[in-house]
Amino acid sequence: MSDCIFCKIVNKEIPAKLVFENDFALAFEDINPVAKVHILLIPKVHYNSIADVSDEVLIGKLILLANKIANDHKLDNGYRMIINKGDDGGQTVHHLHIHIIGGRFMKWPPG
Ligand code: AMP
Ligand code: ZN
Repeated sequence: MSDCIFCKIVNKEIPAKLVFENDFALAFEDINPVAKVHILLIPKVHYNSIADVSDEVLIGKLILLANKIANDHKLDNGYRMIINKGDDGGQTVHHLHIHIIGGRFMKWPPG
């Protein structure tokens, strides 16, 4: 996806503060953090949203990786993993991403 901002980060066409990279995924700091730790974890392959993924192995690997990244950032007191989907879900970047947010108490329900 040539006009996708997260694909551009994958291709190193625009900069990001990377915190993790392997063969299928990339994690980097959110440009507009809402907590002390706010990381975005993305598959390197472009999917518009979570609803477009049928590869359960990929989803499983991403979730496990999100746990690892949270642990690496010492979020022992808890954290939140969020996948926004579509307009009502608040999705603004249409490349599947998991938010890993922590470092403060978070209310429920979300706004
Ligand atoms: P969402 O609303 O779930 O689609 O989340 C998109 C997230 O991407 C927001 O939290 C933005 O702050 C973040 N974001 C947008 N552009 C960039 C960028 N170039 N580098 C890092 N984070 C970004
Ligand atoms: Zn993309």
